[in-house]
Amino acid sequence: MPAVLGFEGSANKIGVGVVRDGTVLANPRRTYVTAPGTGFLPGDTARHHRAVILDLLQEALTEAGLTSQDIDCIAYTKGPGMGAPLASVAVVARTVAQLWNKPLLGVNHCIGHIEMGRLVTGAMNPTVLYVSGGNTQVISYSEHRYRIFGETIDIAVGNCLDRFARVLKISNDPSPGYNIEQMAKRGKKLVELPYTVKGMDVSFSGILSFIEDAAQRMLATGECTPEDLCFSLQETVFAMLVEITERAMAHCGSNEALIVGGVGCNTRLQEMMAAMCQERGARLFATDERFCIDNGAMIAQAGWEMFQAGHRTPLTESGITQRYRTDEVEVTWRD
Ligand code: MG
Repeated sequence: MPAVLGFEGSANKIGVGVVRDGTVLANPRRTYVTAPGTGFLPGDTARHHRAVILDLLQEALTEAGLTSQDIDCIAYTKGPGMGAPLASVAVVARTVAQLWNKPLLGVNHCIGHIEMGRLVTGAMNPTVLYVSGGNTQVISYSEHRYRIFGETIDIAVGNCLDRFARVLKISNDPSPGYNIEQMAKRGKKLVELPYTVKGMDVSFSGILSFIEDAAQRMLATGECTPEDLCFSLQETVFAMLVEITERAMAHCGSNEALIVGGVGCNTRLQEMMAAMCQERGARLFATDERFCIDNGAMIAQAGWEMFQAGHRTPLTESGITQRYRTDEVEVTWRD
């Protein structure tokens, strides 16, 4: 029964998780939260991660009730993500692997999300909507690859929400997206925004520019409230995501949809996806914030699958990469 330790730190969350044969034994996490109106910069984020990673490692082992001897493999996020945080965490993973004399595995972050979602929900072969601050993709498995059916052609949906939150000086604690979601519940007026679906792809940068502009103008004249703008932005971008997910499901004849990534815990997005799935006679699978927001256990779980399938990352190849597409990985652990 191999136990895998997973390190994640590709953006502003740092997590260390332990997974043994489908059971999450520990999954502590810390978030680097910056002041309202600001985002997180790579250097500062890496400094945050370096300051807490050893405490988190100890916490994970204690919570799991394991010692270093019980760990069979060290998995870490190879990419995609921000360079400095990725590198800081990879250094620790490499060091621990050598100190403890354990094999090392570089994991694709996106595949970590997918494998965690499959484990937690029990979805067999879902069409995956992966939505976060750095990524927006519709993915379906075929012939040993997670194939990208549609994606953003500019910024991620979560980045669009985060940057809009900065314009309104919405708090980043616990996350800008969570606070937008709460404000949107009190929105009443739907402000018309650009709707930019291009084939199977989506675009958010124009919507962001438009709403940044509209926010200044409409809030000044009292035409709408900040809550109305949060509501309108969510309704518009989520409708776009539901549309491309539905098209991918129709193409694949899929009757399962799975939402993963940090934006995936938004209950309004889940509600809209569930309505679409119900109309098609399909099932929606989603997870809560413990597993859909970046965490160490998702890297441990993908690492566990890879470890069982015989993958190992030699020390000479144990670097990081900011760009690492979901479909670059050969998924040898699935039929
Ligand atoms: Mg992520």
